Amino acid sequence: MCGIVGYIGHQEAYSILIKGLHRLEYRGYDSAGVAIINPDYRLNIYKHTGKVAELESFCRAKDISGTIGIAHTRWATHGEPSDINAHPHSSTNGRIAIVHNGTIENYSILKQALQQHGCEFNSQTDTEVIVKLIEYIQNENNCTLLDAVREALHQIVGAYAIAVIDSDNPDTIITARKSSPLVIGIGESETFIASDASPIIEYTNKVVYLRDNEIAIITRNRPLKVITTDNEESKIDIQTLRMSVSQLEKGGYPHFMLKEIFEQTDTIFDCIRGRVVANGTAIKLSGVNDHPDRFINTGRILIVACGTSWHAGLIGARLIE
Ligand code: GLU
Repeated sequence: MCGIVGYIGHQEAYSILIKGLHRLEYRGYDSAGVAIINPDYRLNIYKHTGKVAELESFCRAKDISGTIGIAHTRWATHGEPSDINAHPHSSTNGRIAIVHNGTIENYSILKQALQQHGCEFNSQTDTEVIVKLIEYIQNENNCTLLDAVREALHQIVGAYAIAVIDSDNPDTIITARKSSPLVIGIGESETFIASDASPIIEYTNKVVYLRDNEIAIITRNRPLKVITTDNEESKIDIQTLRMSVSQLEKGGYPHFMLKEIFEQTDTIFDCIRGRVVANGTAIKLSGVNDHPDRFINTGRILIVACGTSWHAGLIGARLIE
């Protein structure tokens, strides 16, 4: 499960973003990255395979200035873990950056359509398709970023939490979710976003949990605005959290073991999310479906596992045979 962090306010964004990524490390990841708009309206993106600490070393001596930014820890689903596949991904014009948690089921159809319109891709991810689609819609319709995001969300099928920034709009973060979690923290003239409240709680305990199909428009020094993907204004429910970071990490349970037991239904749901077609009649595994020839022509499949997953692997081997 990947992690998203975002910040807009009066402080330098970089250290808040990095600290937030460290707080989300417990979720597991293979690479990390940040995108920050500097005071000259330039979008700087830095990303690296491996731990957040490696991203920090990579960013040393780079321009990390700016008070608006988004950051990500990736757990690869589409494309290998690599510097190029790491998030954030950007538009061709280099002005829009996106981070994404989830999977886009119809990404290859959208990608082909965009390629037919001359759009080029750098990564193997489904995420790059979203940002290139937003850019394409914006160029075609000459519309606002928000309208382009809304239209793009209508076209994509799958699960997502996204955060988008645009160096032409350096005072706004647009964020949205469907099936993947996203929390907004409301501070004093600053706003935070994250996959869960643990990166936020040390700055503010006022949070808004975004609901499915909602888009939040977070604008510097303006009240939070939330709309649905159908452009209807949503009621904003600000909650006050009374938990410490360590309680939050344990999801409010006294022990990690209890948390894991009670999270089993969510874990199974997350695991198959985006992989069962909407009417529940078929399973879609992009990693398999996108490479039928390799699977049909393969002579031997190795399943590597230990512990409980070893037992699952033994059953899987019998099923595959
Ligand atoms: N599907 C995206 C990717 O493979 C996001 C994965 C994630 O949630 O970290 O890059």
